[in-house]
Amino acid sequence: MALITGIHHVTALAGNPQKNIDFYAGILGLRLVKKTVNFDAPEVYHFYYGNETGQPGSILTFFPYGDIIKGRHGKGMLNTTSFSVAASSIEYWENRLKKFNITYKQPQERFDEVFIYFEDEDGLGLELVFNDKDKRQGFSYGNIPAENSIKGFYNVEIWEEGYERTAAVLTQQLDHTLIAEKGNRFRFAATNSPGNYVDILCAPDSLKGLGGNGTVHHIAFATANKQTQEEARIKIAQRMLNPTPILDRQYFTSIYFREPGGVLFEVATEEPGFMIDENKQHLGESLKLPSWYEKHRAVIEEAVTPVTLNPQNFK
Ligand code: ZN
Repeated sequence: MALITGIHHVTALAGNPQKNIDFYAGILGLRLVKKTVNFDAPEVYHFYYGNETGQPGSILTFFPYGDIIKGRHGKGMLNTTSFSVAASSIEYWENRLKKFNITYKQPQERFDEVFIYFEDEDGLGLELVFNDKDKRQGFSYGNIPAENSIKGFYNVEIWEEGYERTAAVLTQQLDHTLIAEKGNRFRFAATNSPGNYVDILCAPDSLKGLGGNGTVHHIAFATANKQTQEEARIKIAQRMLNPTPILDRQYFTSIYFREPGGVLFEVATEEPGFMIDENKQHLGESLKLPSWYEKHRAVIEEAVTPVTLNPQNFK
């Protein structure tokens, strides 16, 4: 049985927390499914955006550190996170990006997809991939018509010096198979559906990526539960990739390790999910803290900048 089922989430670094909410919940219309803090640095927020319930394969998360150094895209880094939208929504999205003055590259084709590349406020690489393969329901605050809304991820794009060593970890430790290739692009998936495609790009001539605002911190792959996670951890350790112990992230448990090309990989459980401390109607509305930080709530609330969620301002 496969231990890994696909992509769980992608986590990136951002600058201003309010601009981050306005961009992702407002302009892109993703649901803010959780507002919490970075468990390793509780003076910094941790925002989770996704579809209605924050299913694995839809979750993009941010640590908005404020005014830290800007990063650089390059090899050894996940440079582009792509969202899945209906093929018929291309005109809608071109108009929407123009309306909010977001610079984008003209539509391009790759495999059997049409996509548009753009970046967020901090320079994070994003795409919209227009396709009719995705059966998931998108979420809408009402600012974007449901038929045009983002359904979750489509794929991610990782640049590497060479693809072989990363491919070996994906296929041997993380249950992925090669499902397509063209030129310097190799597409892998644990489950062959939108939301789970991992593209490795051979980019030996690019500069090495540097962490900072506008770059991805890590990608997490999904596993069913703690038992499958422990089995995956053993397989990763056997390859001498030195995984961390299992860590409690409140909404899932996690292990982390660095793949041979330099990208930080995580394996996160599908359980228990975001409804463990808020019900479905109220996800993301209040600042949630894990039990071990609850006694410091007053200090934490004082340390983070207040933010508001106003997707209705982004019609
Ligand atoms: Zn993570």
